[in-house]
Amino acid sequence: MSKLHYDTVVDRIADTLVTASTTFTPDQMRAYAHCKAKETNPNAGWVLEKLIENAEEAEKNALPLCDDTGTPHVIIELGKDATLPGDFLPAVEAGVAEGLRRLPARAMGVLGDDKERVSQKKGLSDDPGHLAMAPLRIIAIPGNAIRVTVLMLGGGPELRGKTLRVFHKHNFQVVLDEMVAWAKEAVALLGCQPAILAFGVGRSNFEASSLALEALKNADFDVQTDVEKEITDRVNAEHIGALGLGGDTSVLATFVKIGAQRASGWRVVSLRTECCVGPRRATCEF
Ligand code: SF4
Repeated sequence: MSKLHYDTVVDRIADTLVTASTTFTPDQMRAYAHCKAKETNPNAGWVLEKLIENAEEAEKNALPLCDDTGTPHVIIELGKDATLPGDFLPAVEAGVAEGLRRLPARAMGVLGDDKERVSQKKGLSDDPGHLAMAPLRIIAIPGNAIRVTVLMLGGGPELRGKTLRVFHKHNFQVVLDEMVAWAKEAVALLGCQPAILAFGVGRSNFEASSLALEALKNADFDVQTDVEKEITDRVNAEHIGALGLGGDTSVLATFVKIGAQRASGWRVVSLRTECCVGPRRATCEF
């Protein structure tokens, strides 16, 4: 890649990170408006109204949707006829760091060696760009486009996430019931409801959590499968509600991505209990 192209990629990725951190997609706004209109609990209705206002203000002023600006995760979709220059990945990494500074994100990069980073003994860097992005994923797509999606993952959903084997007993409903049971527990504990549930079903812990992230990348609040709707409805029947105040909207939508499976009596299921500002994601194309 030429110098100009490198700088272009850095700039576009930085802008994409800012967009992911400061905007709801139109379908996400429609989902909030729909839930607000049918909410019967006045306290929960007030919370939904504030979340809509928060999103409008964030977009208008290019401000983060939440003080926890999240950890950047990147998914690259690489066209089979596209050529990926050798310095594309370093440019993506530099673009993420630049985007964190441009936002600016909360400075959350932890200093020190391995043990010090775990114990947080050496404190934090003042530089928002110090927060390294998570290992990225590349997905093959037809054509010659290179699409980069930046997802900003907040801490609350990490606390309420879970990846574990589920014995299927040759019955999909058995797995689905387990997913609903996980979701009910996680949503009740989340704190920043309404939740957006993302499930991946795969053959390993890595694959299942990658699929859950892919489900968030693809999330379209206007489209729900029967399975996704069943999960949402069954968790909403718990009446946990926005901020746990009760009401009709504990879950805004559910997104499920089921991958290839292997001969075994179990499946690996991964749940990300995304919070009320999620999924914060945006995509750019080269
Ligand atoms: S859980 Fe979500 S809304 Fe709550 S503090 Fe974290 S990022 Fe913000």
